[in-house]
Amino acid sequence: MNKLSAGKEIDSMCTKCKLELGHLIVAMVGDKIAKVKCNTCGSIHNYRAVNKVPKATPAKKTSTPKIQKDMGKPPEVLWEERISKAKGTEIPYGMGKAFKVGDVIGHELFGKGVVLQVSPKKCTAIFRDKERIMVTAN
Ligand SMILES: [Zn+2]
Repeated sequence: MNKLSAGKEIDSMCTKCKLELGHLIVAMVGDKIAKVKCNTCGSIHNYRAVNKVPKATPAKKTSTPKIQKDMGKPPEVLWEERISKAKGTEIPYGMGKAFKVGDVIGHELFGKGVVLQVSPKKCTAIFRDKERIMVTAN
């Protein structure tokens, strides 16, 4: 630890130079600097602490990230995503058939769809225009 004492150097405001300059401690009062001597002009004056106020950092605005929910997407986008992820061959839709989630179904009217949800006797599938509940053999 660099304890302050007479003879040590310290930065102080010089009353003559009106600048923040290196000074030599001349006198101490307790553990406080009383008098300093300016290294530049040589004048002895009371110690004036250099303003070392840390710059206030502006508080960052925490913006709530916008979570893109599937709900907000148009069906066509969702449909395209699902189709691109879906594996397996297209199964022609039929009421007597059972489907599982992720199955690609081909409907003669609605076109290609992907099964999103399966419940007894029906499933939810997304088609290019919208989601539809389809009757199945599940
Ligand atoms: Zn000075």
